[in-house]
Amino acid sequence: MNKGKTSRPIKGLGLCSGGLDSILSALLLQRQGIDVTWVCFETPFFSADSAKKASQQTHIPLIVIDLTIEYMKMMRHPRAGFGKNMNPCMDCHALMFAKAGELLKKEGFDFLFSGEVLGQRPKSQNKNSLRYVEKNSGFDGHILRPLCAKRLPQTPMEKDGLVDREQLMDITGRSRKVQMQMTKDFGVKEFPSPAGGCLLTDKIFSARLKDLMDHHEHIETRHLYFLKFGRHFRLDSTTKVIVGRSKNDNKNLSDHIDKTHDILIKHADLPGPDVILTGNFSLKNIQKAAEICSAYTKSNPGDQSLVKVRSRDEESILSIQTPVTKDLKPLMI
Ligand code: SF4
Repeated sequence: MNKGKTSRPIKGLGLCSGGLDSILSALLLQRQGIDVTWVCFETPFFSADSAKKASQQTHIPLIVIDLTIEYMKMMRHPRAGFGKNMNPCMDCHALMFAKAGELLKKEGFDFLFSGEVLGQRPKSQNKNSLRYVEKNSGFDGHILRPLCAKRLPQTPMEKDGLVDREQLMDITGRSRKVQMQMTKDFGVKEFPSPAGGCLLTDKIFSARLKDLMDHHEHIETRHLYFLKFGRHFRLDSTTKVIVGRSKNDNKNLSDHIDKTHDILIKHADLPGPDVILTGNFSLKNIQKAAEICSAYTKSNPGDQSLVKVRSRDEESILSIQTPVTKDLKPLMI
């Protein structure tokens, strides 16, 4: 156990995405006797599933924290802006390190670390952006990147002898060659595929999220989950219709529905989507949502259709005319 200049074990808290670099950075520190723990953050945009698998495989303890509320505050004005889509990568990392820093103080960790590799992502992992994250996290001087530490200035942890710089790495760039060799050296046989599952880098998801943020000052978490499933239509500034595209969509939409604030619509006679109406429940909007529902069944355009409308615990039947799907395009987000 590494005790540096102290008489107690050194404790490092790592951000874990669950990808190979997270695993290797933790194993590298473990090899020099440092007691490592991981923290992973969850939001509707990225999950902790890969980190949980990595934790099971390596037996490194994992703390999972839901960051949605603070994340959405940051999303309103990320200081370093967004990437190609709605991904505020630099402020995302800064916020994660800030939250991890709170744990550092509370639980008595000696430093924070991550599996970041200099130059692996040209915009969010260059020297300037790594510095930006350190400064804006509020934990400048406490962050170590074991996989590329030798390419970066020495940290206080290395200077103070808590971490042996000689045993850290100097990896740069996108090639995974060194990491693949390290998996052999460490005997890592299985590792989750690189996290890569952040929905904020997805063009369609980002357009939906932007629409939601443009129209709503306060966003409820279920609305963020809705963005992941189905087709989305905007009826007016407060009202949306979401149409399940598959059984899986229908299930996920109904898992997140708030029966006191959303209306559920289904065709009365034909198999078809679960449709959620959120916002302003004017008769005009309910009618439009019912028409949209019918458009995604086998009902022919112009047919009269019966549609079930469930609001709270009351169900009513509405008769509407099935529209042509392409006429709904202008409402689609
Ligand atoms: S890809 Fe997503 S999770 Fe990763 S840093 Fe960017 S915003 Fe954060």
